Amino acid sequence: MRYATFSLSSDPTLRLGLVQDDRIADLSSSFPGGLLDLIRRGPSAWRQPVAPRPIVAAHALADVRLHAPIPRPAKNIFCLGLNYIAHAKESAAARGREAKLPEVPVFFTKAPTTVNGPYDPVPWDSAVTQQVDYEAELGVVIGRTAKNLSRANALDAVFGYTIINDTSARDLQVSHLQWFKGKSLDGFCPMGPVVVTADEFGDPQAKKIGLRLNGETRQSSTTGDMIFPVNVMLEFLSRGMTLEPGDIIATGTPEGVGLGRTPPEYMKDGDVMETEIEGIGMLRNRIQRVAS
Ligand code: MG
Repeated sequence: MRYATFSLSSDPTLRLGLVQDDRIADLSSSFPGGLLDLIRRGPSAWRQPVAPRPIVAAHALADVRLHAPIPRPAKNIFCLGLNYIAHAKESAAARGREAKLPEVPVFFTKAPTTVNGPYDPVPWDSAVTQQVDYEAELGVVIGRTAKNLSRANALDAVFGYTIINDTSARDLQVSHLQWFKGKSLDGFCPMGPVVVTADEFGDPQAKKIGLRLNGETRQSSTTGDMIFPVNVMLEFLSRGMTLEPGDIIATGTPEGVGLGRTPPEYMKDGDVMETEIEGIGMLRNRIQRVAS
């Protein structure tokens, strides 16, 4: 199933929707707390038929506004850095360092206030950062409370998958010595357009992932190139640390970011990022200059 969060032009209330083809059914009467509400009710709620079929009480997708599927996560978004070999190499080269592949996952987080809609502009304040970069990533949404997962069963804890653009302020990543600030500016986490449930998505290590900037392909890879596949990263992350329903993990980006170009190229006002993952869809976000 494909879940989305939407609102109507006549009513800004956020609603949970079930997407089928070009229609979206309103599930807000069953799940007034949105997708987090549905996930927290457990697998029986996810799997039961939640909408009449064929869908009658539905809107045309084109008539609604889609928001991030989980517009305000309960905690920071967990992220992996340097999880694709070629990206780890391009990042090291851009910083004048020797590439050293991680032996354990490099974890950091993004603040919940970064979350942005799948088609909304990403605000850019040039007084805050001059080096805004894109990162196409597969997002994992946790379905149940889980600790000390083993790689053999870790995927059982996954509710579904989405697309994340781990938008980054490269200059702040460097100047603050730790990535959190440079990864956490408002709106720097476009997400969506849907969460595809794990049963429908299939193997998370066999999907094309890519990004176009102003129509030009910049990233084009496969999730099969991850250094730490989803089950392995979940084993590491959950070791001694509880994961909870609705937790979100951004799984790292492949090569082709602006930092890795010679010379590095950062985004400017009006640039359009299209972030795409096979089986989920596409985000389209424009960089929009704002004043402090
Ligand atoms: Mg990233």
